[in-house]
Amino acid sequence: MLFDIIALEWLIAILAALVLVLGGGFVGWGVGRQRRALKRVRLQPEQTRWHSLTEAQTLQQLQADAHGLSAAAARLRLTEHGANRLPEARPRSALVRFLAQFHNVLIYVLLSAGLVTAMLQHWLDAGVILGVVLVNAAIGFVQEGKAEDALRAIRRMLSPLAMVWRDGRLISIEAANLVPGDLVALQSGDKVPADLRLLRTKGLQIEEAALTGESLPVDKRPDPLPRDTVLADRRCMAYSGTLVTHGQGSGIVVATGADTEIGRISALVAGVQQLTTPLLRQMAQFGRWLTGAILLLAAAGFAFGMLVRDYSASEMFMAAVGLAVAAIPEGLPAIMTITLAIGVQRMAARNAIVRRLPAVETLGTVGLICSDKTGTLTCNEMTVTAIATAGRQLGLSGAGYDPHGTFSVDGEHLAPQGDAALQEILRAVVLCNDSTLEQLDGDWRVHGDPMEGALLVAGAKAGLDLVRIAKDYPRTDLIPFESEHKFMATLHHSHAGESFIYVKGAPEAVLDMCATQRASSDAGATISALTPALWHARMEAMADVGLRVLAVAVKPAQPHRSELDFADVDSDLTLLGLFGLMDPPRAEAIAAVRDCAAAGIRVKMITGDHVATARSIARRIGLANPDAALTGRELDQLDDATLQQRVAEVDVYARVTPEHKLRLVQLLQGAGRVVAMTGDGVNDAPALKRADVGIAMGVKGTEAAKEAAEMVLADDNFASIASAVEEGRTVYDNLRKAILFILPTNGGEALVVLGAILFGFQQFPLTPVQILWVNMITAVTLALALAFEPPEPGVMRRPPRNAGQPVLTPLFLWRIGYVSLILMGGTFGLFLWELEAGEGIAHARTVAVNTLVMFEIFYLFNSRYMTAPVLNREGLLGNRFALLAVGLLLLFQLGFTYLPPLQALFGTAAIGLTTWLRIVAVAASVLFIVELEKALVRRYTSNSRP
Ligand code: ATP
Repeated sequence: MLFDIIALEWLIAILAALVLVLGGGFVGWGVGRQRRALKRVRLQPEQTRWHSLTEAQTLQQLQADAHGLSAAAARLRLTEHGANRLPEARPRSALVRFLAQFHNVLIYVLLSAGLVTAMLQHWLDAGVILGVVLVNAAIGFVQEGKAEDALRAIRRMLSPLAMVWRDGRLISIEAANLVPGDLVALQSGDKVPADLRLLRTKGLQIEEAALTGESLPVDKRPDPLPRDTVLADRRCMAYSGTLVTHGQGSGIVVATGADTEIGRISALVAGVQQLTTPLLRQMAQFGRWLTGAILLLAAAGFAFGMLVRDYSASEMFMAAVGLAVAAIPEGLPAIMTITLAIGVQRMAARNAIVRRLPAVETLGTVGLICSDKTGTLTCNEMTVTAIATAGRQLGLSGAGYDPHGTFSVDGEHLAPQGDAALQEILRAVVLCNDSTLEQLDGDWRVHGDPMEGALLVAGAKAGLDLVRIAKDYPRTDLIPFESEHKFMATLHHSHAGESFIYVKGAPEAVLDMCATQRASSDAGATISALTPALWHARMEAMADVGLRVLAVAVKPAQPHRSELDFADVDSDLTLLGLFGLMDPPRAEAIAAVRDCAAAGIRVKMITGDHVATARSIARRIGLANPDAALTGRELDQLDDATLQQRVAEVDVYARVTPEHKLRLVQLLQGAGRVVAMTGDGVNDAPALKRADVGIAMGVKGTEAAKEAAEMVLADDNFASIASAVEEGRTVYDNLRKAILFILPTNGGEALVVLGAILFGFQQFPLTPVQILWVNMITAVTLALALAFEPPEPGVMRRPPRNAGQPVLTPLFLWRIGYVSLILMGGTFGLFLWELEAGEGIAHARTVAVNTLVMFEIFYLFNSRYMTAPVLNREGLLGNRFALLAVGLLLLFQLGFTYLPPLQALFGTAAIGLTTWLRIVAVAASVLFIVELEKALVRRYTSNSRP
């Protein structure tokens, strides 16, 4: 007989192993097939060799115009050619996604247990086990689908824009709406939105690594090339997906979407990113470890029961199955994924769009935020409030972009119209300008750089006709502004045959180019030798009150010149004067910097602006140490060791270049800090990539910066970084709370079964199906409620988490351990009580299950806060999802206890009111005991985090 059973057991074990291997293999095969399908490329012969055509031929072939398409024509073409989007990788099919839910060792064990149970002809148990596995997979399937959709929607918030001429105006549209024939403008930092035949270039360099693998930028020129020129050498083309690293240009769209070169070679863009983070991976690892331990435990229990307690093999097998299903936290992986997805959605709602999921966790460890100034800490709504010329200092009134305001000198009103010097300097900044000012529904708006917009407003306040000036002095060439050289220059010709170059930029840069200055206020053309000391003093005075300072200069040019290069502006310019622009700090940024300080996060300002301006704003923003500052030049002079010491204290870095940013990140990380760094320019990409959390600006940031970043701010606002940190800390807390809540449930159940085996109980307090019921029903109600847990009140008043800290700290394990024991003690105790009182086994088991569930309800409230007390209004009522979950769970339990079909399925029986009261009284103990432990922890440890 024993032999028969052992043979049967072997057979079952072999079958179970087969299921494991086949099941895993099948899922692996499905996933692999899907991956292979994704990699398949679509190669098509080229249609047209655009690079060999002249501008006229290109325009003719595309039936386009050198001034762009009309909006109506573009609409028509869009229906013809479709959206300019690469076909997305087909999402995994529903079947594969469903099967993937079973691809988990814990589920393999459950399935094997189900199979074994079926072979032992415990059909009901086998059915319930299978049912639970299916329900679990269905929940995972639906939730994962929802999470993936949410992430896809968030990714769509980042859809790239393109600057295009439509109806003769340069406007910004979604790149998806580009059509062949559109005329597109490119500037440094842009991602080329479609394949373009370039018509104009100015210092245009494009990095084509995405297409050719070559990471060095290529110089682009519009001249046609021989037909057989290979792709990498086609200088007159700009290809979709490549990055503009320098200069400007424009080109006609020749191919969009899947017809572009990148569309042809890869055909598919990356699919949904994997829903995982380091913590989730750590937990998956823990899950595997746990499974091993559970199997060992089950085997040991089996052996003990058979050898010491004289159970039959079949009985012991069911006990071992019970033990395995009790100990396996089936719901945990799904709950963790959901928690993560909810966190990412919450961040997006607070304007922080996460591009790479692990950043969600890293945010909780950030100890330092290095932030840009302009537009992030300040409003980026500029107003010219001061103008300095050689002889005078003028004040300018008015607010925002409304072009109404008055000029004054020493408090006396000044009529700008008759003032030649003022008219000249304002004309210079209006011409050396790429922005436009427009009135829409009564509101004045700026298209382009807000600082340049403010200069246009100043010109309009003096009565300049912005449109006429642009027509009277057409621009023939320019050197665009780049933060490396910090100035912009334009070349103009008047209809009277004069030619001149205007330069505007950072005063240090422009003063170096000047030899003379405009001498007096009214005799327009007189010049005198430059007096640098005077200008430096004026610049300092403006910067000290927080103004952003800009210098403007002019130089006559040869009438026949049509091109401008750096040699033209490096000397002999005449300085016209300085502009002081006000850009007030954002009120929310001031509050956010304060929050960061309370959260143990130090904020450093890293700006391209002047040091005095930076210091003044730093003071108003409330940085910890606004007075010590380092400039880019000083950074260059310090060696790494000295700088490493200085960076700990200095919070203001001015006139820095992107290379300095990279060096600063490296040094700060070298000192063991977890660094978040903001950036917007094309050259910020290396620093963004290097930072632990790279943060790009969504509005003024370049595509290059966004691609390099882990997170993008939809509103460019520093306050959104602080919100993201808060949410990041909350997600991590909630993930840990889910673990802290779920594991003791399994621990308690496993201990009940183990205890029964050890003490040789003839009838177990919980049957496998009852255990599964408890696990499932509490996972979909109580544990899910924790995923919605709002930030703890003190979440921004504690220091950042230590990045190296393991998830399962000793305090954490201790709580899991002793709560498991309480759950076991209470459940066992009441089970025995009922038996002692002469109740039947069905009744006693019903009490045991309800006790366990009630324990969990109370423990859910404990788990809402790791160490903070919950015996208060906020603690008990603060999460309405928790209250809803409790209500729902109680309904389920009533059904479980009183509905005849469920009684038949789960072997339960109706129980009376006093029994319920007894259950509640016993189960409530966990609430008080854990709160007591928390109070002791708070009292005796400085670090109040378990
Ligand atoms: P942050 O890094 O905080 O955003 P920022 O925007 O002030 O700082 P940059 O854009 O590098 O940094 O500008 C540096 C300096 O270059 C400014 O202080 C200003 O003097 C000058 N500058 C900025 N934009 C222009 C422009 N469009 N034309 C000419 N000069 C400019």
